Amino acid sequence: MSAFDFDLFVIGGGSGGVRAARMAAQRGARVALAETLGTDGLGGTCVNVGCIPKKLYSFAAHYADAFHESLGFGWEFGAVDPSGQPALPTLNWATLKANRAQEIGRLNGVYGSLLRGAGVTVFDGFARVQGEHGVGLATINADGSPGHQNFTAKNILIATGGTPHVPHFVGREHVITSNDIFDLEPFPQRLLVVGGGYIACEFASIFNGLGSHVTQLYRGEQVLRGFDDEIRHFVAAEMVKSGVDLRLNAGVVDVQRTADGLRVELEGGGEVLADAVLYATGRVPNVTGLGLETVGLAQGAQGEIVVDAHYRTNVPSIYAVGDVTNRVQLTPVALGEAMVVVDQLFGPVAGKPAREMSYEFIPTAVFTHPNIGTVGYTEAAAREAFGQITVFRSEFKALRHTLSGSSERTLMKLVVDSASDRVVGLHMVGAEAGEIVQGFAVAMKAGATKAVFDSTIGIHPTAAEEFVTMR
Ligand code: FAD
Ligand code: NDP
Repeated sequence: MSAFDFDLFVIGGGSGGVRAARMAAQRGARVALAETLGTDGLGGTCVNVGCIPKKLYSFAAHYADAFHESLGFGWEFGAVDPSGQPALPTLNWATLKANRAQEIGRLNGVYGSLLRGAGVTVFDGFARVQGEHGVGLATINADGSPGHQNFTAKNILIATGGTPHVPHFVGREHVITSNDIFDLEPFPQRLLVVGGGYIACEFASIFNGLGSHVTQLYRGEQVLRGFDDEIRHFVAAEMVKSGVDLRLNAGVVDVQRTADGLRVELEGGGEVLADAVLYATGRVPNVTGLGLETVGLAQGAQGEIVVDAHYRTNVPSIYAVGDVTNRVQLTPVALGEAMVVVDQLFGPVAGKPAREMSYEFIPTAVFTHPNIGTVGYTEAAAREAFGQITVFRSEFKALRHTLSGSSERTLMKLVVDSASDRVVGLHMVGAEAGEIVQGFAVAMKAGATKAVFDSTIGIHPTAAEEFVTMR
């Protein structure tokens, strides 16, 4: 009989925490998981205020283009508007919000069932580390009074994720973050987005599609720092073409609430009036109140928990995965890291080696309109890493847009290490880029060369076939 209440206590019921808890319990471990949001909030950022609701809203926004484009394919809408144009369908924001909330609620329930089915004990409450093997849980009793429980665990896994970071300025209290945008009331006819990363670009595109007048401010020369330069310029141009008022080298002085809405004073002069101001200026690790100092847990400059290659902290009984370690903030990465921890603690699946995590060739998509899909080295990074490279590119109007009337263009790009002929970078801006790039990421993990790409037969007529026909 173990001296501990649990073999593993997981703090945080998001992507990494749920995966680790479930897999560990399936291996026979006695596992507990605590989630601040309660069992109704299981799934964390991704399920509640991240990937899933974001993608649902992105789907919603794409219908706006589809309605317009359908006219070129012969679709007719019964009514015409006063200017004689076909009256296209309009968005019912309340319906979208309600349907999204229902689906997210369903997913929260699925996560709860999966955990309980695997035998995980799930606690509603805020957990903190109390010593190398101790966890304190702050709860709310049925009568509303605060409660507290103490547990011991052989190992503790911290998977508390991250939270939006908003810099300090006058009027900060008037702005919102991605946590607030899904349930905004009323629908923002004028949205100002600050930032040039994944979240800023995705929500600028989404709300532009849903019908807002979107202004996006980015402090630097071009959005999406870290992505391939040509891809950054191309997607920015497409976003502008589709209606986003993108202003580069721009920043906010202050935000004031006025009778006309939020008045945002800009650096260098000028102002923008908006119904909502979304700050998407990065995320910081969720470590406040976690009690890390009680065990001297090593942290980085932003508070992130420092871990080794197997996600073990400097305290041998404590592990951390996902956004709280501030590495690659993506759900599949948190899932992969969680499985490494489970293999380390409870042994690998019978007959398989213990899993290791590789950060090379992680594919990712930015759900701008059009999407970015990318895997591997940017052109600049490849040139630095490999010296001699060959770049293949193709820019074209997708077949669909020959009739749709849309001027949207697609860009595809391959970066090849000349010495080995290996494809080390693959980038795309275009419809369904995320869907397309996932399969190519497998080929690149397997070390596919340009010759292998060249010998692969295309699927015609698709956009994806361009990746195997570029010469
Ligand atoms: P989280 O999912 O954030 O889970 C942490 C959980 O811990 C939360 O539920 C929190 O309530 C809980 N918690 C915190 N402190 C405590 C405590 N002390 N006690 C108990 N519980 C606690 N990634 C993608 O791969 N694709 C996408 O399309 C994508 N879109 C995104 C869109 C947005 C708007 C955002 C914000 C993120 C998006 N991400 C996307 C990133 C992805 O959501 C995160 O990388 C992922 O959720 C990280 O998982 P995690 O387990 O580390 O943390
Ligand atoms: P990012 O780090 O991607 O982008 C933050 C942006 O805000 C950058 O453009 C940055 O500029 C800018 N910024 C930072 N500080 C300030 C400031 N003080 N004033 C003005 N601008 C500022 O963070 P996000 O919040 O967009 O997203 C967090 C992470 O979540 C992403 O990195 C990604 O890993 C994940 N995510 C993934 C998605 C997906 O997979 N599709 C979707 C959404 C999020 P600069 O570049 O100049 O530093």
